Formats: sequence, structure tokens, C-alpha cells
Amino acid sequence: MNYISTRGAEAEGVSSAYAIKTGLASDGGLYMPRELPKIDLDYIKALAPLTYPERAAKILSLFLDDYTYEELLEDAEGAYSEKKFIPSPAPITELDGGRYMLELWHGPTSAFKDMALQIMPRLFVRALRKCNESRCALILVATSGDTGKAALEGYRDVDGTKIKVFYPINGVSRVQKHQMQTQEGGNVSVVGIVGNFDDAQSGVKKIFSDTEFSKELSDGGVFLSSANSINWGRLVPQIVYYISAYCDMYKSGAISLGDKIDVCVPTGNFGNIFAAFIAKLMGAPIGKLVCASNKNNVLTDFLTKGEYDKNRDFHATISPSMDILISSNLERLLYILLGHEKTAEYMRKLAADGKYKLTDEEFKLVSEHFVGYYTDEDECRATVKRTYENINSLIDTHTAVAVSAAERYACDHKAENKMLVVSTASPYKFAADVLDSLGGKKPENDLLAPSELEALTGVAIPAPLSSILEKTAIHKDVIDREEMMASVKEFALG
Ligand SMILES: *Cc1c(COP(=O)(O)O)cnc(C)c1O
Repeated sequence: MNYISTRGAEAEGVSSAYAIKTGLASDGGLYMPRELPKIDLDYIKALAPLTYPERAAKILSLFLDDYTYEELLEDAEGAYSEKKFIPSPAPITELDGGRYMLELWHGPTSAFKDMALQIMPRLFVRALRKCNESRCALILVATSGDTGKAALEGYRDVDGTKIKVFYPINGVSRVQKHQMQTQEGGNVSVVGIVGNFDDAQSGVKKIFSDTEFSKELSDGGVFLSSANSINWGRLVPQIVYYISAYCDMYKSGAISLGDKIDVCVPTGNFGNIFAAFIAKLMGAPIGKLVCASNKNNVLTDFLTKGEYDKNRDFHATISPSMDILISSNLERLLYILLGHEKTAEYMRKLAADGKYKLTDEEFKLVSEHFVGYYTDEDECRATVKRTYENINSLIDTHTAVAVSAAERYACDHKAENKMLVVSTASPYKFAADVLDSLGGKKPENDLLAPSELEALTGVAIPAPLSSILEKTAIHKDVIDREEMMASVKEFALG
């Protein structure tokens, strides 16, 4: 299997190791496998008795054919050990009315990004060796909060790498900020940006596309790579938990083998839900993909009208990891459904005008699989409260966006399939807003919100979070967008 750009360059293809090493294709497109591997019900049946790391190694080996199964198993066992994911990597709980919740936040940073970022650095270091790369890799990350911390945890003190994270100084929760500012490790840098997530992301993209700057770094023995979900190494581990969840629902008797499930995913950069789409295309019995957005509802509009238009106000919401107006992985969807010429054309339009519109025929291809809903702030808070009071499930604000979307989807459609709602963060990561939603009083210092929420609900704070709350901040720099490149240079070569 080899990897090609969504926009058509490098038509001869590159290896999976190379795609993981570089992140972005040379024409600015995203890497995709030339063909998707297929699985059937027998495959799922055979996977069901295995552990999560075994399932992961099997599924990853379908995509990463220049890694041996033994390498992948070693990486998966290291990444998804019982010490790191407590009690397990991707448990499913039953909500009500045929709805189930896939909890992806039991890892070291209490958000679903750990599912990819615990294993990706391992795949990445192997990729460097497989590509005979001797330069130091500088992982450059723009984050709306969760990616940054998860990437820092994944890459800290990994040989041959450095990691630098930019986050919008007022666009992440207090707990998220504290998690990043207290990061330990000899190869890490964390810097706040005056602006929002899109500012941080476009700043990083600009640095990546500056060839002169790359040359300068390279002369100093450093090259840039990304840990954002534009990197295939981020995406491929996410396919695993959808297939694994299907195995678990089958094993528990929630569904019979072959029954379709619908999936509802709280969405920002379109990475998580896109992984579910890949699982579906591979042959996992998945019906509709419900794309749940917050008030930054650019994807809801796209999925209801076929027009992507980022020219709109940006809202800072209580689900900040989804405050995104440019959902990068949508490009991969366009590529799969429309091919690279169309994708390149629409991406040019997006860059020039901030928008593009699908033809009716193209839009039909999209709506066959996807439907979009968005949840405003009041409804989000009400959903946190309702879900806690009615079914005794304490969920975070991102998960609430999805729970609300799933409820409305069930109302609007004759729901025949069981619905799997994806839960992407521990409620304690967004404790102040969860507390507020439940009618508790927000403490003056947001860092005290977790213990107050714990006192109110009796649900324990996850261990990794409670230990961080006691640490003091060490990374406190805040800079303007224009200073990002200089800051990268100093960290890389200084
Ligand atoms: C990153 C994140 C999302 C959005 O995921 P995408 O893959 O960017 O769509 C949703 N919820 C939480 C808690 C996140 O950290």
C-alpha cells in the first residue's frame, strides 16, 4: 500500500513511514492510502476475543505495511497499557433508549487525543529509522487545547525529537492551560498565542510552507513535522477504536454481528469522525455518521446545504476543542468522494475566498453518509444537566454537544440502528463549565472547579488530572502571531 496526496502530487506514492514522518504532502495536500483495506464480518468476529492492543496491531498492519506486525504489537502494547489507560482504552457504557457511549478519555491527559498520541510517537520514531532520517524532528503543534497536552505527553523525552506547542491564550479551559503550562520533559516548549485557534493553526501552517525556513532549519540538523490530525499517523489509530467498539458491542450482545450502528461524534477538525468513515468504507457495519458541532457550525451548514463557508464570526464556546472554522480533514473526505482534481480546486477556492460549494450531485454523495447538527451553548449546558440527572452520567461539554445531536437525530429519523455516541473528554477537563451547567457555583479560581465538581457529584477526578492540579506552571510565555517563526527558530537551533 502506498500513500498519495489528496491534491494529486507525488502520484508515484510514498511509504506509510514517509507519510508519517513528513505529515503534509509536498503540494499542501494530506496523505491518504491509495486504496483502503477491506474487512468483513469474519474479520470482526476473529478480532472480538482479542485485547485492545492486539486489535490495534492487526488493524494498523492493514495500513502500515512497511511496519512488521511485531513492531506494531510492541507499540500498541506500550501505548495502550493498563497503567496508562485506566481501566481500559475504550470502554463502552450504556446510556438509554438504544444509545451507547464510547469513552475515549481514560488516557494520561483525559481527552481522546491520547488514543492517537500515545502510539503515534512510537510509530514516528520507527518511521525516522525506516527513512534513514538522522536529523532531529521538531514536532510543531497548533492546539485548541487537547492535542497540545496529549502531544506533549506522547513526545516528551522521545529520542531524536523536540516538540513545540502553540495554543490560543484565551481559547482553552483553565485546566487545559494548566496541564500544558506544567508539562515536564527536556525537549518541550509551550507558548501561548494572542488570538484564536485558527490564528495559531494558520501561523503553524505558514511556518510549514516556508521553504527557506525549512532549509535554514535543515542546515542546522532539524526538520519540521506535525502531530495535528492532518498527519496520517494521528488518524490511523483512530480507525481502530471504531472497529474495536463494534467488536465490543457484538461481544456484549448489544448488537448481532452484521447489525448496523450509527455513530455520533463531537467534531472540530473532522479527524475523529473521518476515522469512523474510513472504518465504514473498510466494511465495518456503520450506518449514518452524525457530525455534532457547537455554535461554530460551519460543518453543520456544509452537511445541510453543501456549501462550506468559513466567512463567519468565530465563537469562543464552552466546548473549545471544537472551536474551529477550518476543518482540515474535510479535505480527505472530498478526496475520497470526488477525487483529487476537485479536491485541489475546492481547496484553492477555500484559500482564496474562504468558501466553496458542492454541486447537487456531489452533495448527494456526502449526505449518503453524513448528517450534521449543532448545539448552542444553552442547549449544551442543559444536556450536561439532563444527562446527569436523568441517567446519572456525568459528561463533559464536548460530549454533551454530541449527546444533544444524537437525541435530535433520533427524533428526526426513525432510528433503527443502535447509536454510538463518542465521548471525547473527561468532565473534569472542563470542570468549571460542567459545574456551572449542573447549577453549582463556579469558584473564583477555575483550578478549584474539579474538586468542587467532585464534591458535588461524588465522581472521582481521574488520577492524572488530580496530580497535575498540584503542580506549578513553568511555561508561561505569550507571544503575538508574528513572532511564532522566530520562536520556533530559537527553540530549534538555539
Ligand atoms: C479534538 C477534540 C474534538 C474534535 O475532534 P476532531 O478530530 O478535531 O474533530 C472533540 N472533543 C474533544 C474533547 C477534543 O479534544
